[in-house]
Amino acid sequence: MGVFTISFNEYNISLDRREQGSNLDFISHAHTDHITAAKKSQKVLSSVETAELIESAYGISVNRFEPNEKGIKLLDSGHMFGSKQLYIEDYENGKSIIYTGDFQMQESDISKPIEIKQADIAIIDSTYSNPKVRFPNRQEIIENIILWVTNKISNGIILFSAYRMGKAQELIKIMNKAGIKPVVTKKISEVNKVYEKNGISLAYSSAYNSDLESDGINDHNFVGITEDRNVRMLAEKLGGVYKRRVYTAVATGFAEIFRFNTDVQFPLSDHADFYQILEYISKVQPKKIYTYGKSKEFLAKSLAESGYDALPSIY
Ligand SMILES: [Zn+2]
Repeated sequence: MGVFTISFNEYNISLDRREQGSNLDFISHAHTDHITAAKKSQKVLSSVETAELIESAYGISVNRFEPNEKGIKLLDSGHMFGSKQLYIEDYENGKSIIYTGDFQMQESDISKPIEIKQADIAIIDSTYSNPKVRFPNRQEIIENIILWVTNKISNGIILFSAYRMGKAQELIKIMNKAGIKPVVTKKISEVNKVYEKNGISLAYSSAYNSDLESDGINDHNFVGITEDRNVRMLAEKLGGVYKRRVYTAVATGFAEIFRFNTDVQFPLSDHADFYQILEYISKVQPKKIYTYGKSKEFLAKSLAESGYDALPSIY
């Protein structure tokens, strides 16, 4: 397996990227860096939710292939709404294979928990395979977010920067838990519609634009959620308009690694850390492992040192 595709029956399946010669493109979830194959794809293999998110957020209509009795299965990956792993039961000489896509082991309020299935061959994402990074318990982070927000909101406006797909909706859920209905940008509310259509209830009000301009929010403090990374600039703007203190926050796994230009940062991650990857492997029990992603060499080396047959993939 040199190239980053899986050949199975009449299918040549690409994995979360555009690949020459593929006739079926697996898209594990709808984050931007995973949907490159969608545009010119003959057939997309994804969950219904992912296909709908691609259509609504990127305006790309996809020809979705229904996983069927031919032995191709999609398993929940716990990463975001609609995210899946690809599992093929009888891949080669009776051996099974699994490709994780982005995944995480802890439960979240908004995506289904990961489904674990034993497989002979595993192709594993290594985004956070750094032993120095250990994500705190998700429920504790959520409690900390609620505590901080309920503490600050009497003194000013609160502004969160979060990915518009996945993290923003989880933050809305967390705010709802605290009895708060946040104001979100227009772009985030467009994504929300797909969630709502699929039975996830979210209480929020939608702004007209990305500057969080909205009716009836100027007479009281509020929580705003924006996809804008440069939240400091928007905070200054809102502070000027409303003449109030604006507190800024970010919720991302990278908060465990980098310092953000915000008042506070919460390491709410949708990825497995190094220790969760080891937990995943101990449950899947693969005989052969291919790693891919940012730290693939490091992860393959650590796994090989622990006695696994592990190699980095070429991508
Ligand atoms: Zn992702």
